[in-house]
Amino acid sequence: MSLIEDLVAAYRILAEHEVIDGYGHVSVRSDGNPNSYFLARSLAPELVTEKDIIEFDLDSNPLNGDTRQPYLERFIHGEIYKVRPDVRAVVHNHSPSVIPFGVTTVPLKPIFHMAAFVGLGIPNFEIRKVEKGTDLLVRTPKLGKALARTLAAKPAALMRGHGSVVVGEDLQRAVGRSIYLEMSARLQMQAMTIAGPRGKIAAFDAAEVKASVPRQDYARAWNLWRTKALERMRREG
Ligand SMILES: [Zn+2]
Repeated sequence: MSLIEDLVAAYRILAEHEVIDGYGHVSVRSDGNPNSYFLARSLAPELVTEKDIIEFDLDSNPLNGDTRQPYLERFIHGEIYKVRPDVRAVVHNHSPSVIPFGVTTVPLKPIFHMAAFVGLGIPNFEIRKVEKGTDLLVRTPKLGKALARTLAAKPAALMRGHGSVVVGEDLQRAVGRSIYLEMSARLQMQAMTIAGPRGKIAAFDAAEVKASVPRQDYARAWNLWRTKALERMRREG
């Protein structure tokens, strides 16, 4: 079991759960060097293998003379690793169910125990406050820094009209949170629909959030997802 194998599995798992599709990416901080991280070359997630992983410094320059095409939005990863020493894995996705919450004033609420971390607060990155007239992609270090500033100490941030960024102390948390954030957003929309405009939704209170978040490491799910993803890969050859 290596970190790179885990990273490849993370790509497959996120694609399988439709959190990322042809786009979106996941990275992990290097075990040996906290000032570098691993991210795939510019490639659809389901095609990523160990050979496609590039090591970057925290300015998101490829190391070891690697000249393969990197993701345009790699700055999301590097700039977050710079300011969040606690973060060891970053997911950037275009997770569909979170989009409505990035373009309205309706906040995401902690309504589902698998996504209790929502109760820590999910800020919304408004790229227009940093630069007007962009294509919404985080293409520069400046935009990456601004996103990292919006994320601050939180586990995730929405990116208005684009998707979200989700972080964790390890890959299993970043991946688990991404999958359950998508699910939680969908469940909240369903709860809002059946509750109607006057209905109340029973979200977690602060004590429940505090009790839930540290325990939620997604370990059991991660082991299952990882085993299935690596088996599928071996079958595909
Ligand atoms: Zn993106």
